[in-house]
Amino acid sequence: MSPTPGPSAAATADSPSGTTHHYCCRRCHEAFSSRRDLYNHNMRQHTQQGGGALQPSPYIRGQEPWVNNQALRNVYETNASHILQRHQEGSVTSTYNLPLTNDFSVHEIMEAVEEIYDRQQHAFRLNLNFGLILVNKET
Ligand SMILES: [Zn+2]
Repeated sequence: MSPTPGPSAAATADSPSGTTHHYCCRRCHEAFSSRRDLYNHNMRQHTQQGGGALQPSPYIRGQEPWVNNQALRNVYETNASHILQRHQEGSVTSTYNLPLTNDFSVHEIMEAVEEIYDRQQHAFRLNLNFGLILVNKET
């Protein structure tokens, strides 16, 4: 998952008037008032998935963790091209993506790793990375 711009990245962006747009899309030249808005625009409008389709969501419809959280839903949908990216197999490096729910088990991961193992014909090294969405819960 690509890093999302943090609050400090847009330190010079917002003017008191709120009418200036300092962040311009390089592809369609639409202007945005914050770097985050530009990022969201780029992810939703210009990010193409290799091969077209994404993997299906691991959540059962109606049981997603964002049922009562529109902000979380926006983050998930904006970054769906990363979260639900298909496997990319190459001759040297392959990336296997396993979208998980919040209730995943080690068994689920081991099954996926065994499937990956079965597909290899040479010695290989496996790097395992987790991506997650951090939620700031104010108390
Ligand atoms: Zn654009």
